[in-house]
Amino acid sequence: MSGHGHHHHKHHGFSHFIHHLLHHHHHNNSTASATTATPAAHAVDETQLHNEGFNARTINLLKRVDGRLERLVEETGRVLRQEGVRVELQVTQGLRTASEQHDCYERGASKCDGYRFKSNHQSGRAIDYSLYQNGRYLTGDAAASASQYHRVADAFKVAAQRLGYNIQWGGDWKKFKDNDHIEVARNNTPARRGGPSVA
Ligand SMILES: [Zn+2]
Repeated sequence: MSGHGHHHHKHHGFSHFIHHLLHHHHHNNSTASATTATPAAHAVDETQLHNEGFNARTINLLKRVDGRLERLVEETGRVLRQEGVRVELQVTQGLRTASEQHDCYERGASKCDGYRFKSNHQSGRAIDYSLYQNGRYLTGDAAASASQYHRVADAFKVAAQRLGYNIQWGGDWKKFKDNDHIEVARNNTPARRGGPSVA
C-alpha cells in the first residue's frame, strides 16, 4: 500500500469500544518485544509532557516513535488549549513489531498484515490516540463525540502546519476511516526544532 492506508481499522459503534480494549490489552503484552524493533528510544521532555496533561503511557509511547510525533502531540495540545477545546488527548498506540501488526491484522483491526503490507506503526511514524472529556472516554460514536475527533484532527493539522510537518489523519482516508490515527510522512520538511529522530 502506498501513500497512506498503512494501518486501517474501523472505529464505529461497539466495535470501536472493543478495539479500544484490544489496544490496551495488546499494548500490555507488547511493551517488551517492541524494544527490539525500534531503532533507539529517544529522550522526550517528560516533565513538560506531564505538565501538559499527558499520562505516563502517552509519554512512554512517544519515546519509541518518530520524534516529530512528540512535538506534534505537544503542539496539538497547545492548539486545543488555545481554542478552548476541553478535550483530553492521550496516545494509546505507537510502535508495533511485524508480529504485533500481524496480530492486529488477524483480529480484523488492520488491513496491513505486517509483512507484505506494512503499517506506518511499524516504522514508528504513526500513533493512535483516544479522547476523554471529564475523565470519560469519548468513543466517537455519538455525533457530539465524533465531532470532537474532528475538532482534534483539525488541531493536529494546525499543529502540523506550525511545525512544517506533512501528516495524515486516518479519518481522511476514503475506505477505512480511522479517526484515531495520525501519521507523519516519511520525507518531510525539516522541523524547526530538529528533524526526525527516527529515520
Ligand atoms: Zn493506527
